[in-house]
Amino acid sequence: MVERIRESCLICQIVGNRVPAYKIYEDDLILAVLDVNGANPGHCFVIPKNHYPIIEQVPDAELANLFGVANKISSSIFEDLKVQGTNIFVSNGIPAGQTVAHFLINVIPRQENDGVNLQWKPKQLTEEEMSTVELKLKESIQNIGVEKIESIEKPKTTQEKIEMQPQSISDDDEEDYIAKQMRRVP
Ligand SMILES: [Zn+2]
Repeated sequence: MVERIRESCLICQIVGNRVPAYKIYEDDLILAVLDVNGANPGHCFVIPKNHYPIIEQVPDAELANLFGVANKISSSIFEDLKVQGTNIFVSNGIPAGQTVAHFLINVIPRQENDGVNLQWKPKQLTEEEMSTVELKLKESIQNIGVEKIESIEKPKTTQEKIEMQPQSISDDDEEDYIAKQMRRVP
């Protein structure tokens, strides 16, 4: 059973109005606040009001709403702060950079050459190493039992789905860009 509010948790203190914060969105279950030590102006956290230390503990329906809110805030950031991109990410676990034991989603406004560094050096694995990892993961992941969403319509043109992408990615090289990202080609 998940604790709703934890006394020793800074995020829970913000949710409970015991610590002041720059709130930009609030509903019954979700809060979004500006990060006072943000990477860029407008960097914010989307937070479940219930205390869940890591993403695995967040119920699927709540998670869907949290990412829905993060997506809408990202759109507002594009519009209102005139930025060229956003990073939307979760640090899950201490080795991944999680600094507070309350799950949250970062939304970071991005401009070209803004000095924010979220990059990594690609590790070149051998085919054998890739196959080993594939084997280890594939079977259990294929049976994770996420409900299939049949009713979602596929976009008819590429134009519709790239509306929010950074300006530097043109219609023509969108496919190429995404393919490269998926293959982690530097
Ligand atoms: Zn908490």
